[in-house]
Amino acid sequence: MRKKIVAGNWKMNMTFDEGQKLTSEIVNMYKDENVKDVVAILNPPFPHIFPVKKLIGGVEGISLGAQNCSDKEAGAFTGEVSAKIIASFGVEYVILGHSERREYFQEDNEILATKVKEALANGLKPIFCCGESLDIRTAGTHEPNVKFQLTQSLFDLSPEDFSKITIAYEPIWAIGTGKTATADQAQEMHAALRRHIASHYGKEIADNTSILYGGSCNPKNAQEIFSKPDVDGGLIGGASLKSRDFVDIIK
Ligand code: PGA
Repeated sequence: MRKKIVAGNWKMNMTFDEGQKLTSEIVNMYKDENVKDVVAILNPPFPHIFPVKKLIGGVEGISLGAQNCSDKEAGAFTGEVSAKIIASFGVEYVILGHSERREYFQEDNEILATKVKEALANGLKPIFCCGESLDIRTAGTHEPNVKFQLTQSLFDLSPEDFSKITIAYEPIWAIGTGKTATADQAQEMHAALRRHIASHYGKEIADNTSILYGGSCNPKNAQEIFSKPDVDGGLIGGASLKSRDFVDIIK
């Protein structure tokens, strides 16, 4: 049985106090709801990692993730944070390949393949993002485009390592725009990605891979999108900055 996951991507938001308040509220609301079968992952900016970890401490079902890691192992790389350092703070997940990293920081499929390997070598579980631009969607080539992202960055992995990956399908035209993919569009792509994974790693691994949807998810549309058979949860940006919205999406 694959995991249901709702991951909150805070992006470059939240001061120390705001992050503490948000986390405390999420922890309290999560405990009040009967949602233990859904893994909630908070992915704050790096300086929040340690204080947020303290707040979510012993709460079963809430995990911690980073938003990125370096492709380098260690050493003289000012401003970078390695997978090893992140893991040493008790972090479990790391988001890799977000479209904002691909677009603004020139992360291509090759760099991402290296980052994925670094993360796995240090015991982090990658949440690997993929998705197509509006131009590609309009041209109708979105399926091969997104499959190619997986092939290039992930399909070198051993089956054992691939089993630690969570996929997040995020159509770029839906991120932060208020425009979500329809539930059917999400299902169509998720099913295509699952078939693609099955063609390389076999049905069992494909069936056990959680594939999350991301892009303008909110408490109003989450239920319909997440009810689709191949959608196993969501990667949430804007709505993860509001405790009530985030916990309602988990619900
Ligand atoms: P959004 O962001 O929910 O604000 O659209 C999703 C994401 O970028 O992960």
